[in-house]
Amino acid sequence: MVSVDPALVPDASGHFGPYGGMFVPETLMTALQELEREYRTAAADPAFQLELSGLLRDFCGRPTPLYFAERLTGKLGGAQIFLKREDLLHTGAHKINNAIGQILLARRMGKSRIIAETGAGQHGVATATAAARFGFDCVIYMGAVDMERQALNVARMKFLGAEVVPVTAGQATLKEAINEAMRDWVTNVRTTHYILGSALGSHPYPMIVRDFHKIIGEETREQIIARTGRLPDHLIACVGGGSNAIGFFHAFLADGSVRLTGVEAGGEGIICGRHAARFQGGKLGVLQGTKTWLLADDDGQIELTHSVSAGLDYAAIGPEHSYYRDNGRISYDFATDDEALAAFRTLAEIEGIIPALESAHAIAHVIKIAPSLPSDRILIANLSGRGDKDVHQAAEILL
Ligand SMILES: *Cc1c(COP(=O)(O)O)cnc(C)c1O
Repeated sequence: MVSVDPALVPDASGHFGPYGGMFVPETLMTALQELEREYRTAAADPAFQLELSGLLRDFCGRPTPLYFAERLTGKLGGAQIFLKREDLLHTGAHKINNAIGQILLARRMGKSRIIAETGAGQHGVATATAAARFGFDCVIYMGAVDMERQALNVARMKFLGAEVVPVTAGQATLKEAINEAMRDWVTNVRTTHYILGSALGSHPYPMIVRDFHKIIGEETREQIIARTGRLPDHLIACVGGGSNAIGFFHAFLADGSVRLTGVEAGGEGIICGRHAARFQGGKLGVLQGTKTWLLADDDGQIELTHSVSAGLDYAAIGPEHSYYRDNGRISYDFATDDEALAAFRTLAEIEGIIPALESAHAIAHVIKIAPSLPSDRILIANLSGRGDKDVHQAAEILL
């Protein structure tokens, strides 16, 4: 097993090995440098950390439980399965960890307006929630197709006082929403902070978003040791941009005995345009500020992507994941739409937990591997979000 020192990445220029960096218009360089400076000052400021941890506890509901999935373990008949319950957080997914952290940075920088992109709407809801809590104006860019499949989250954002701007360009999903948010930011950069929602985009975002989610893995480590007296054997998380996965894995990266697996969206199978598994047929490229693995054709044109879960439906993966894939510390697999939908059903029926379709990809992987493992093995899946937002869509397919 490779040994890695997670403290070494990103380097001072925002690179994870050959990945990452700052591929942005000149007008945004100053804002990104200001953000990095402010973040580094805040991270070292005990008053900032105290306020953040107070909000995470009292407003968001941390720590989240580590739950032993007894009936799923019994049904699969192999490894012991635990779930990290990020689905129980305020607003229903891990996204609020980052939204709350970044809004505190926006306030420190004296900004008055917040913008964000959203795919499934979870990041939009988390950002609108943070903006309401701190009294910021808030504009959320969302693909028109995503607005249709995630109507509940659109209504939630509106109730929270955000303006939701539909984006109809291209595939009208997350990539186009990010383009519009970047355009807004270039225009309004002096008053506006862009709360990017995954471990993606230009430096310093992949680092900042990861750091605000590291608490997921830190809690998990403490909880599993308190409960079983040892480290787990294997952690599993779904990977869209990669924020819940890197936050969950980070505290275990230096423990070579703990296997780490990221699960991408296999969509309808690994057929060009019908999936979003960047490590299955993807290539190195630059998209929306960062150099990383992505789905593009031979001319560098970004390919269409598909996943039943809007939150995994994106052509690029966060640069830190490309780095750990190269050095072998994290392995990557995929689950198809059908496998994720079956896992969605199974977890609901067997454990009384309706998972987000994104998280159902991680559960699908658990269902694949747990039966052949001995019963003294410990698997932990990150249940990144709850499935309320997906009930309508799943009912149309499954009921
Ligand atoms: C947004 C989202 C994801 C995917 O984003 P990552 O940055 O890869 O974590 C996964 N699960 C849920 C519940 C989400 O809302």
